Amino acid sequence: MNQVIATPTAPTGSTGKVNLLDFDRQGLRDFFTQIGEKPYRAEQVMKWIYHDLEDDFENMTDVGKALRAKLTEVCYIGAPKTLLDKAATDGTHKWLLGMDSGNAIETVYIPEPTRGTLCVSSQIGCALNCSFCSTGAQGFNRNLSTAEIIGQVWVAAKYLGNITHQNRRITNVVMMGMGEPLANFENVVRAMRLMRDDLGFGLAAKRVTLSTAGMVPLIDQLSDAIDVSLAVSLHAANDDLRTELVPINKRYPIAELLAACQRWVARKPRTSITFEYTLMKGINDQPEHARQLIKLMRKLPTCKVNLIPFNPFPGTRYERSDANDIRDFQTQLLNAGVLTMLRRTRGDDIDAACGQLAGQVTDRTRRSADLRKRQDDGALHAI
Ligand code: SAH
Repeated sequence: MNQVIATPTAPTGSTGKVNLLDFDRQGLRDFFTQIGEKPYRAEQVMKWIYHDLEDDFENMTDVGKALRAKLTEVCYIGAPKTLLDKAATDGTHKWLLGMDSGNAIETVYIPEPTRGTLCVSSQIGCALNCSFCSTGAQGFNRNLSTAEIIGQVWVAAKYLGNITHQNRRITNVVMMGMGEPLANFENVVRAMRLMRDDLGFGLAAKRVTLSTAGMVPLIDQLSDAIDVSLAVSLHAANDDLRTELVPINKRYPIAELLAACQRWVARKPRTSITFEYTLMKGINDQPEHARQLIKLMRKLPTCKVNLIPFNPFPGTRYERSDANDIRDFQTQLLNAGVLTMLRRTRGDDIDAACGQLAGQVTDRTRRSADLRKRQDDGALHAI
């Protein structure tokens, strides 16, 4: 989706006040100390923000009148503004959220019988340029702030809270929206701390997942910084093909990526890693590709594979694999003892499926112009 219905609103912080969504618990305690208040007050306010989804200090009834007035003066609770929200026929919900002018990002909620997963963005666009991803084709603008990342969860929780359907709750968060989360390390980790914190959204480590295209040194840093689950976008088990699909593979080839994954598993024996593998017709979906993947997975026996049928977008040169090939690929892996799941495509009637998130990116690279040219060429061919 490329058109924006309303003009994106003022940037976070444009008021000159401090946005409390930018702080994790420790940061909030430090901020309260700085303004001459007791740190436990920060925790009281934090509970209002994340448990009660309150953004007006005046409604925080157990906070004294004088402190409420002071807080209103020096800070605010500023989640991104919803420009558009769309529901798909399968219950998937997508929000287009305004950042600064000309930029908007997408957040997607996927309800399932036993859980509700929110797919959160970490950057406006993405700099990694994976050849099969529509976010990559849109180019890159900037990192999202902590407030803009945790604000996505806040906005969705507030919206879903208003619906009485029992399944519509956020039980899982995946950093699998627009952007490469490890490239925005500090802000993403801070936001994930708020997802995990009891006074925040209180999600267990296995319910908060960061997905990376494979920024090897930062995988090690992540394992030191916080307990969350890891997903790695693999898509090919040989270096030539992977470099074509995921260009950062040139810098961090498969052997280095695997070594980092082995270190992760050794340090976090109770967690496992999910390898994402998007199946593209005639590109990476043949029996020989499955064999290469099986060989690679032998080095990580506790990990699993998540197969994602490719989701097309305008201007792409790839196609989704045939249903038979997808089934055969999965069977080949399962027969070799590799735990393999097939991700059901959700929300594709509102362009909310994996790799279809586009938002609105004021591109700082040439990539969006190249995509438009390919789309125009495609339209000409179709005539
Ligand atoms: N940058 C991070 C997180 C965002 S992408 C990463 O690369 O992991 C979330 C997942 O969707 C990734 O596995 C990504 O490779 C996959 N994906 C991207 N484009 C896709 C498409 N067109 N169809 C299906 N999956 C896609």
